[in-house]
Amino acid sequence: MNTVTARERRLGIMGGTFDPVHFGHLVAAEGARYSFSLEKVIFIPAGNPPHKPDHIITEPSIRYKMTCLAVASNPSFCASDLEVERPGPSFTIDTVRYMMRLHPNERIFFITGADALIEISTWKNFEVLLSICNFVAATRPGYRLLELKEKLDPLPDSLKQNISYMEVPALAISSTDIRQRVREGRPIKYLLPESVEDYIIQNNLYRQ
Ligand code: NAP
Repeated sequence: MNTVTARERRLGIMGGTFDPVHFGHLVAAEGARYSFSLEKVIFIPAGNPPHKPDHIITEPSIRYKMTCLAVASNPSFCASDLEVERPGPSFTIDTVRYMMRLHPNERIFFITGADALIEISTWKNFEVLLSICNFVAATRPGYRLLELKEKLDPLPDSLKQNISYMEVPALAISSTDIRQRVREGRPIKYLLPESVEDYIIQNNLYRQ
């Protein structure tokens, strides 16, 4: 899978809620860029996550702004407001199809957390999705990969072969923990880029 043919160009899409984006996400994206020979990685914050109707999530434009700040120093990274601007639920199939139209000669690699992928059989048009793009499941240290593989086992091999796994030690950092730390007045320094930390403080995010 890692051999790039003369004609194949590869584009990474980093999908997540990014509430907030942190170094775990950045390390995972950079690892995927290197391991899968991706030309660039586009971070796409989820606009209205369809699977979280009852969760309180920071306004999409604010999560997008933090994502822009986080990717600014890496020329191989950029952020897109595609899902933030699109009305209605943010279905990955719509995002991938749009990006395929925009980049017709590139193979798409959708990078996200393994925990999110565990539920992929509930995603809109998931079989089509798995057949038109590759997935990279980024896992935290100690993650029960076996559980994810068992969950995906009923899928046909032709679809399963499009899912790769990548252990990312930096994913010990989590958005949930960062939000809790801010709420409790504990430090978040060195868990995320300074520009994002400053933005969180200046805009009083996650205080309650
Ligand atoms: P989530 O349930 O909030 O996250 C599950 C776990 O994965 C968390 O531990 C999270 O850690 C981690 N994670 C999330 N994105 C990651 C990333 N890019 N890299 C590494 N770890 C990541 O998942 P989510 O953020 O809502 O969804 C992930 C992606 O799947 C989004 O692009 C979303 O739109 C897509 N999705 C699509 C559908 C659909 O089409 N129906 C349904 C569900 C999800 P942190 O909290 O630290 O990020």
